[in-house]
Amino acid sequence: MKQPCPECELRAIQSSITKESLEREVSGMKYVEGITACESQFRKRIGVCEKCSSLVSQIMCSECGAYVLFRAKNKKSSCPRAKWAAQGC
Ligand code: SF4
Repeated sequence: MKQPCPECELRAIQSSITKESLEREVSGMKYVEGITACESQFRKRIGVCEKCSSLVSQIMCSECGAYVLFRAKNKKSSCPRAKWAAQGC
């Protein structure tokens, strides 16, 4: 019996991830004070990422390997290149 290849499995999972699928997941997250970024902060962060040379395939930061939509949604996250200005909400 052929053994599954972990790297192939990971590639298969990653190939099914799209900007749209990530947006669907993130848009379903409720705002929780101190945990998730408010909509204004989230949009500002994503706006910066969309113009950044480190953004890969519209979804991933090449500096940290994170999916930027999730990173931007996390209140306590920061940009590895310090491009997100501190914003409260
Ligand atoms: S998190 Fe920072 S370095 Fe990464 S893509 Fe966004 S702005 Fe660029």
